[in-house]
Amino acid sequence: MNIVIFGPPGAGKGTQSKFIAKKYNLYQLSTGELLRREMQNNTELGSKISSIINNGELVSDDVVSDLIEKFISKDAFKQKIIFDGYPRNLNQAINLDNLLKKYNQKIDLVLNLSVKLQTVKIRIQERQNQENRADDNEITAIKRYQTYEKSNQPVIDYYKQRNLLKVVNGESSINQISQEISGIIDGFKG
Ligand code: AMP
Repeated sequence: MNIVIFGPPGAGKGTQSKFIAKKYNLYQLSTGELLRREMQNNTELGSKISSIINNGELVSDDVVSDLIEKFISKDAFKQKIIFDGYPRNLNQAINLDNLLKKYNQKIDLVLNLSVKLQTVKIRIQERQNQENRADDNEITAIKRYQTYEKSNQPVIDYYKQRNLLKVVNGESSINQISQEISGIIDGFKG
């Protein structure tokens, strides 16, 4: 199955995607990780996007679309992807549907992790101590949360209309969230 996991920065998308990928034998496609890899490897793309990412803004839709198509087009990942951090706006949501259609695939489930700004600030501070990401400081975290708030509602509405959306309480502990997600996936009937 193809799953989209959606939520603000610090909601636990990465942690839960890894858990889901392992338990259900899916491939975790994290656009944030792919973009950070470009920056770490000092590629041409990496140098173009670093100031955007470090300002908490979104990289252009075309750039991210090219990155994800490389995975969607691979037979090995067919109908086996968890999209972590994509789509982030309505244009990307529509583009994802079109790309999946092109490769005879579809989205089965969208998980929306809901978390308050106060929790985001605390989690990002904790992650900063562990991972040292350049965009994990309080100012950028607030900007990323605001970027999310600006573009998330149309995406939520888009998936709600298609009956794909399941809201998950992202305020609970990692294990509780994993359990809630497992319950949703196990109860899924395509
Ligand atoms: P994440 O690891 O998902 O928190 O993403 C980190 C950063 O990468 C975001 O704040 C954006 O700057 C960029 N990014 C990740 N995914 C996308 C996307 N789908 N569209 C545009 N920018 C993205």
